[in-house]
Amino acid sequence: MAGSKPSADTIAAISTPPGRGGIGIVRLSGPEAGSIAAQLVSLRQPLEHGRARLADVLDAERGGVGHGEAVRIDEALVTWFAAPNSYTAEDVVEIAAHGSPVVLELLLRRSLDLGARLAEPGEFTQRAFLAGRLDLTQAEAVRDLIEAQTLTQARQAASQMGGALSRRVEPVKQSLVELIALLEAGIDFAEDDVDVTPADEIARRIAEQTPALTGLEASFGRGRIVHDGLTLAIVGRPNVGKSSLFNRLVERERAIVTATPGTTRDTVTERISLDGIPLELVDTAGLRDGLAEGLGEGLREGLEEAEQLGIARSREALADAALVLVVLDATQPLDEEEHRLLAAVEGRPALVAVNKCDLAAAGEAAEEVGGVRALRTSALTGEGIPALRERILALATGGAASEPGILTSLRHHQAIATALAALGDAAQANSNAIPHEMILLDLYRALWALDSLTGQTTSDDILNLIFSTFCIGK
Ligand code: GDP
Repeated sequence: MAGSKPSADTIAAISTPPGRGGIGIVRLSGPEAGSIAAQLVSLRQPLEHGRARLADVLDAERGGVGHGEAVRIDEALVTWFAAPNSYTAEDVVEIAAHGSPVVLELLLRRSLDLGARLAEPGEFTQRAFLAGRLDLTQAEAVRDLIEAQTLTQARQAASQMGGALSRRVEPVKQSLVELIALLEAGIDFAEDDVDVTPADEIARRIAEQTPALTGLEASFGRGRIVHDGLTLAIVGRPNVGKSSLFNRLVERERAIVTATPGTTRDTVTERISLDGIPLELVDTAGLRDGLAEGLGEGLREGLEEAEQLGIARSREALADAALVLVVLDATQPLDEEEHRLLAAVEGRPALVAVNKCDLAAAGEAAEEVGGVRALRTSALTGEGIPALRERILALATGGAASEPGILTSLRHHQAIATALAALGDAAQANSNAIPHEMILLDLYRALWALDSLTGQTTSDDILNLIFSTFCIGK
C-alpha cells in the first residue's frame, strides 16, 4: 500500500481553523497544484521550490473583460514545494493570505473552479502515508499533535511522529521475518536435505521477541493516561472538605462550597492539567447523600435503603475512577462508613487526605490510614496541597518518567496484544511438535498484526476510519 500510485487529482482545502485570524492558508496538493495556483493569484515572481513568493489575490468579479483592471482584494504569500520534497510527496502549494474567511473561501472556490477537488478530512496526511512518507503510527501522531491539550501530550505525539513507536517494533518484526524465512526454507527444501530448524531453536527465537512486546503492551497504561488523561474521584463524608479540596486543585471556584452537609448534590467534574497529564476531577456526592431524599417516606426501611443508595452512588463513582482521593476530617474520629470506604479502596490507586489539618494539632493525623498513605491537607490554608498534587501525579503516571514510543492508542494496543497472542500460540504449537506449516500460520498472524500497526497491512476501511478523524486541510 505504502509507496503506491501517485494521486491523479489535485486536492484543496483551507488548512487554518475556521473563523478570522491574522493569516489563513489555502493548501493545494497534486499534479495541478502549481498551475492552479498560477491562475488563482497574480504572482509577482515565478514559483520556486521552498520559497515564498508575493502575489495579489484579484477580485475577478470586479475586474476582467469589460471592467478594466481586476481589483486587488488581498495580498498573499505563495510557497511552492515540488514533488517529491513536500508533505504529501506531491506538488504542494500553500497560499497564505490574510485570515479573512471571505478571501479564503474565494480562493478555495476558485481553485475548485480551476479543477481542484475539495480535500477529505486528513487527506493530505493520508496522501503522505500512501506515498510512504509516513507510516501509520506517524500519521496518527500528526493528528494527536494537533489535538494535544498539554505539552506532555504534544511531546509524546512529536516523539511518535519521529517514529519512536515504529522503531520499537521494527527489531521484533525483523526477527519474526527471519524466523519465518527459516521455517519456510525448511518446508520448501525439505527434499533437498535442508536442515529442519530444531524445536528448541524455534522456542528460543520466539521467546526472544516476547519481552519487547510485553514491555510495549505494558506501556499502554501510562500512554493512555498521557493521551486520554484519567479520572480522580474525590470521596468522603459530607462536610469533610471535598469541594474545597476540589477547588484548590482546580484553582478556581467551580464546585459550590457550603457549610451544610450533603450539599454537593450531583457529581461535579472539571478537567485540569496536572503537569501535562489531563485529569478529570469528580467531586462525588457525600456518602450519606441518599439519606435526605429518603427522609420524606419516613420509614426506617426506606431510610436504610436510601443510605444504601447513597453509598451505592459513591461506590459507583469510585468504581469508574482510575484514582480515588478519600477525604477525611482531621477533627473527627473515623466512623464506620469511613472504615468501609477505606476498605473498599484498599489495593487500588488511592490517596487519603486528612483535611482541615489547620484545626487539628500538628502530627495528629496518621501517616497511614486503613492501609492507604495519608496526607495532611488544609483546603483553607493551602497546606499540603502541593504535596497532594505531587502524589496524584506520581500515582497517575506510575512514577515512571516519560519514555519514547509508548502505546497511546487502543488500535496500537490491540495490534501488539494480537501479535503477542499469536506468538504465544506459535510457542505452544512448537512445544506440541505441531508441523511447521501450522506454526508458520501463527507467526504470519503475529507479523500481520505488527504490520497493521505501521499500516502495511491495514485494510482500506480502517485507514479511512483513521483519516476521517483528522480535520479538513490536514
Ligand atoms: P464537602 O461537603 O466534603 O464537599 O465539604 P466542603 O468543601 O463543602 O466544606 C465544608 C466546610 O468545611 C466549609 O465550610 C469549608 O469552608 C470548610 N473547610 C473545608 N476544608 C477546610 C479546611 O481545610 N480547614 C477548615 N478550617 N475548614 C475547611
